[in-house]
Amino acid sequence: MSSASCYTFGQYVLKASQVFIRSRLSIAFVNRKPVVPGHVLVSPIRVVHRFRDMTIEEVSDLFLVSQLVSMEIQTHHLCPSFTLSMQDGKEAGQTVHHVHVHILPRKAGDFQNNDDIYTEIEKHNDSLHLDNPGDQWRSDEEMAEEASILRKLFDKKYTQNIE
Ligand code: AMP
Repeated sequence: MSSASCYTFGQYVLKASQVFIRSRLSIAFVNRKPVVPGHVLVSPIRVVHRFRDMTIEEVSDLFLVSQLVSMEIQTHHLCPSFTLSMQDGKEAGQTVHHVHVHILPRKAGDFQNNDDIYTEIEKHNDSLHLDNPGDQWRSDEEMAEEASILRKLFDKKYTQNIE
């Protein structure tokens, strides 16, 4: 993985320790407030606000990395299914001004009704507007530990193919 000490994620700064894949045009990183265990995000490295503003190469790379992440996480978290989602624009619930794919591992019975996950994602967005949303964020150490475990899964097999 190429090194950088931090990355811009819309209006935020991500520590490199959160990032577990860096391809030529995309990064995959752990979420500071996951909706379900293993909820991670994939973004273009370039700060692109909307999906429509991405180049063909960026779109292709973003979805190849998303596919790769879901394939490995399936084995790692022993989860048979995924919800992949993208909130493209404020009215769709996008809170970070930078394209990102949510990858959420799914298991049987994880929500009473399958589509309740979308309500949870919505509630989770609302919480970003609380007075002290940071109270709900995971520590840098916890995120770095998760990213370090995931990084090993990808370093072994794929780094050379996606760099
Ligand atoms: P959306 O509401 O679709 O824009 O999703 C934003 C996502 O980014 C949420 O899942 C947040 O928990 C996540 N997020 C925001 N800032 C950070 C950050 N600095 N590090 C990791 N995840 C973040």
